[in-house]
Amino acid sequence: DEFIAVLKKVEEGEELTFEDIVLLLKTERKAEMDALFATADRMRQEIIGDVVDIRGAIEFSNICRKDCKYCGIRKTLPELERYRMTEDEIMEIVHELHRMGLQTVILQSGEDLWWTPDKIVALIQRIKAETGMRITLSIGERPREEYALYKEAGANNFLLKIETTNREIFEFIHPDDDYDHRIQCSQWLRELGYINGSGSIIGLPGQRPEDIARDILFFKDMGINMIGIGPFLPAKGTPFEKYPPGSVDMTLKAVAVTRIVCKRVFLPATTALASLDPDGQTKALKAGANTIMLINTPAKYRYNYQIYSHKNMIDLKAAIKAIKEAGRKLPPYLKVNVEGLEDA
Ligand code: SAM
Ligand code: SF4
Repeated sequence: DEFIAVLKKVEEGEELTFEDIVLLLKTERKAEMDALFATADRMRQEIIGDVVDIRGAIEFSNICRKDCKYCGIRKTLPELERYRMTEDEIMEIVHELHRMGLQTVILQSGEDLWWTPDKIVALIQRIKAETGMRITLSIGERPREEYALYKEAGANNFLLKIETTNREIFEFIHPDDDYDHRIQCSQWLRELGYINGSGSIIGLPGQRPEDIARDILFFKDMGINMIGIGPFLPAKGTPFEKYPPGSVDMTLKAVAVTRIVCKRVFLPATTALASLDPDGQTKALKAGANTIMLINTPAKYRYNYQIYSHKNMIDLKAAIKAIKEAGRKLPPYLKVNVEGLEDA
């Protein structure tokens, strides 16, 4: 049978073609999906091992100059209360993450130009000086020189998702963005030496398995190191409010195939998947994923960073539960009383 033949190619270390990838993504048979997930899981185990990396995210501003049609903090949402954390507020959380033993902090925001290069550089330098933590930036498109300044100041990783490599869909969902410029930004980040993050949204209007297959080959060709794959989730008040969410199965298949094709990469079990399916993170960990991102935005701001409605607030307790359920190992650097957390 064709499906088994493709998985056999994987076992034998052969590269998959575009057609092979489409075939894997298209299956809807339970037994075939399980075989696909098991193959990706085995590969993850051989390449990365059993430890699940945990990272902490601070969503430090929900102010954005853009109007991405899917996004729950897009510019045109008159009802949304906007916030911008101060440097001290951010540092308070950074120290909390550092005390937990975490090694990487993710700084995420809308495209908020109040955060000038000077301010961002000062924040990066302060995090480095006070904690030495690794820093992931997820702040959208900026000029090359700015990316260079952040790298020099000590930023390690950058997450800028392509969202989809289908140019028509990309342009339809991004009224402010140019597809070629987005790719250009990703290339700059790679040239500057960042650990380079990208990813896709699964279930965008008009998106087909062939598009997702092209996304995965794009990540491979671009040498992307971190790949965030999450389902589309409708956000209230946006043009896509009434659109159906992406499928859990398609998201898991995309995660599994990405592990198989891109091999040694960081694959998060995404918050979006956890929001769609309460067992989503455990399932992703069993289908090739190897990292979890906590949401550490202060409670008073969190509600206003609902990039999609009903966002699941992944905390350490939820992450540990998913890791245990998947039969995996907590990171050795964690400095928390895990039993105490579980009893709580
Ligand atoms: N503004 C930066 C950017 O766009 O890269 C970072 C923040 S943005 C909110 C982070 C990610 O959220 C995007 O890359 C996108 O994939 C995801 N996102 C936003 N709205 C979403 C939705 N409704 N469903 C699924 N993912 C969504
Ligand atoms: Fe802004 Fe990012 Fe949302 Fe687009 S996805 S509206 S750039 S926060």
